[in-house]
Amino acid sequence: MRIKCPLCGERDRREFYYLGAKDYLTRPEESNLDAMHKYLHIRENPCGLTEDLWQHEAGCRAWLLIERNTATHEIFKVELVNNKKDSK
Ligand SMILES: [Zn+2]
Repeated sequence: MRIKCPLCGERDRREFYYLGAKDYLTRPEESNLDAMHKYLHIRENPCGLTEDLWQHEAGCRAWLLIERNTATHEIFKVELVNNKKDSK
């Protein structure tokens, strides 16, 4: 799989670190134990379209939000997480 980093260009997938679903961007209040338990331990494992967080670990180290199909490995969109937060 090849990933096109917005800062470095197209690179091999092995240069990137996979964190998980974009849910990590919306951390619940720590006082809400049920929500925190779900945030830390309960994960979906969908087959098909996902939005995941990846870090370009061997390159610019930027965090990326990648929209892809887990069944076909087709990538539809790659954007910087910082840009995503600024647009809210
Ligand atoms: Zn990069």
